[in-house]
Amino acid sequence: MTATDTIAEIKERIAREAQALHPRLIQISQGMHANPEIAFQEHEAMTALTNELEEHGFEVERGVSGLDTAFVATYGSGEPVVGILAEYDALPGLGHACGHNLIGTWAMGAGIALRRALPDFEGTIKVIGTPAEEGGGGKVTMAEDGVFNGLSAAMMMHPRDTTYLDRGSLAVTPYKLEFHGKSAHASSSPETGINALDAVIQVFNSVNALRQAFKPNTRIHGVITHGGDAANIIPDHTSATFLVRSADQEYQEELKQRFRNIVEAAATATGCTVDITEGISYKQRVSNLALVDTFRENLTAVGIDYEVPPEGAGVGSSDIGDVSQLVPTIHPYLQICDKGIGNHTPEFNDASGSARADELTATGATVLAWTAADVLLNPELRDKLNASFQEQMGREPAR
Ligand SMILES: [Zn+2]
Ligand SMILES: [Zn+2]
Repeated sequence: MTATDTIAEIKERIAREAQALHPRLIQISQGMHANPEIAFQEHEAMTALTNELEEHGFEVERGVSGLDTAFVATYGSGEPVVGILAEYDALPGLGHACGHNLIGTWAMGAGIALRRALPDFEGTIKVIGTPAEEGGGGKVTMAEDGVFNGLSAAMMMHPRDTTYLDRGSLAVTPYKLEFHGKSAHASSSPETGINALDAVIQVFNSVNALRQAFKPNTRIHGVITHGGDAANIIPDHTSATFLVRSADQEYQEELKQRFRNIVEAAATATGCTVDITEGISYKQRVSNLALVDTFRENLTAVGIDYEVPPEGAGVGSSDIGDVSQLVPTIHPYLQICDKGIGNHTPEFNDASGSARADELTATGATVLAWTAADVLLNPELRDKLNASFQEQMGREPAR
């Protein structure tokens, strides 16, 4: 028996294990879908995923890196270590409109199918539960805490309306702005007031004026969260939230400073004071090209076609970026609905709880587990992942 035969046999067993788990995967995915829990409140989702992993022999640590709803489920010991990442947070008011119930289910199913198909192996399987992708950046905190250190590879899969192997994501930094002025009667004594609404409007105008000077793929966008209380009162307090995004880390630092300059200049110009609160930044994503190739082979082998994202297509941001800059990482996408149904819409919430999504719970787990098996069992592949990682990180990420 050759080594290739062995891997093929193991993959066959993984697929069978994933099929055997299929009814349970549907239950768990539907359970999360029916009870959407938002960032850092994903207690029941974590319980469902970790209990299942424990029943299948994983050792589970709940409440990792100071985050109550983060977990690490471990099976095996020593190197190599492969990490399969789960997300399970929902969107406020929209339920599982990003389909993270499927991300959690795929990761858990992949971990269990892999472990059941590999009774004896050298190394460690980790299913890592990462909360609050949609706001709060669980992976950023966990990355700073060293949770992903030492992984030979980190992988997860995200549902959408198209299957992509790879798609970029932008670095992002969130800001909360609070302008303070002085209220006055807007008609009888406006000259005694200091208008905090003018300050916040000036920020929008200055950002808009500078758009021409930003590098491609720069995105700066915001909303006014408090604009004043009544038209006859000069607003003494206004607030806004902004997201500053770009395609590389060095430029992101420059942009952050430019944005602060804009905000401070708006305060100065209007006589206001301003409190700038900078939130948790996500780094831009670097998909490991060698691991993308491995995933492609496995995806094609289960009979799923993929598309290449159109040139210049807009992208968002995700805390997987921070993981991708530490260890070889992939974040491919699996089509779960008809094209044109965008994430973060009520229609996508329906899609992530649909029969079509249910059907894909076992297939998704299989593709991830096959990819993880390749990493665990093939030392040459691990060398390739590493070489690709060094090369990709050594040069400025191209977008
Ligand atoms: Zn989302
Ligand atoms: Zn998402």
